[in-house]
Amino acid sequence: MKRVSLVRGIAKTLVLVFVAVVSVAAYFLYPPEPRAITFPGGKQFAFSIVDDTDLATLDRVKPLYELLYRYGIRTTKTVWVVESNEPAHAPNRGDSLRDPAYRAFILDLKSKGFEIALHGVRGGSSERTDIINGLEEFRQTLGQYPEIHVNHSLNRDNVYWGEHRWSFALFRLAYASLGKHEFSGQDSESVYFWGDLVKQHIQYVNQFTYGDINLLAVNPSMPYRLADKPYVNYWFPTADGDNLDQFDELLRTENLDRLEREGGVCLVYSHMGAGSFNRDDGPDPRFESRLKDLASRNGWFAPASEILDYLRAQPGWRADLSFRETVRLEMLFLWNATIRGILPAPAYHTH
Ligand SMILES: [Zn+2]
Repeated sequence: MKRVSLVRGIAKTLVLVFVAVVSVAAYFLYPPEPRAITFPGGKQFAFSIVDDTDLATLDRVKPLYELLYRYGIRTTKTVWVVESNEPAHAPNRGDSLRDPAYRAFILDLKSKGFEIALHGVRGGSSERTDIINGLEEFRQTLGQYPEIHVNHSLNRDNVYWGEHRWSFALFRLAYASLGKHEFSGQDSESVYFWGDLVKQHIQYVNQFTYGDINLLAVNPSMPYRLADKPYVNYWFPTADGDNLDQFDELLRTENLDRLEREGGVCLVYSHMGAGSFNRDDGPDPRFESRLKDLASRNGWFAPASEILDYLRAQPGWRADLSFRETVRLEMLFLWNATIRGILPAPAYHTH
């Protein structure tokens, strides 16, 4: 008799715990109201790419950008200002604005309406003085500060990266227990501090990447502000098109149909210069066929910050993200990232 009641007690507790976990998950994951946006010029959806500059060389990326330009798709390319100081870490390699031919190419892109954004001042950690000089060099070269910054790999000057990326304490603690790297761009006591300069000069920072082509479905209130991360003016999400296989999958016909039908926003996060988009004889034809499909549709193809500025100017937009949506975004990212195998990111995250 005693054993039976013990088993019953355990079963009851398990059911209660299960119900509690499902209820909490349902509360946080219940999708928020979709946001209907009217895009400029009667366009049906907005599209851009945020291109992470890891491993990008002039030879590899120039033909890819010629294609984007030919199809009228103006996007956002991140750059490094100076050469890497830690080239042994492979993702740190790639051309910088210090290379005259690459710099000329970047200036040409800008003159054609592409956006040039920052991927930290270099591939490798930079102390504050180097960051100040790097930002000034960016401004002198391009005529303005970057509107967008994207954190890079293991750069210690990354802002709100590693465990600091999370707002929900449970995730932050779990991550901290796994993390092997310290990131301190937001820590005013650190030699890597530049949070105040991010706040002063830069509008947007990418926070998380998702598997959904329509980011408005994931995060209707994009771009958003987080009260616990005051040095970043606004955060934005991206859609995962990391290498050509993922890009091809993300932009497949059914997904583009859905983006169009839902009046959505897609900002693809991609490593266009890392090799997968190129074959020996030039761009992989799969890239061009996706661009061709995209360009045949009634989309607004503009740099990411132009789209984000526009979203912020729409009626009903609110800057501050609710606690519920904050947790929801973190849960979705964690789920997506686990499925796609980019976690555990604490040690090996590639962007
Ligand atoms: Zn990177």
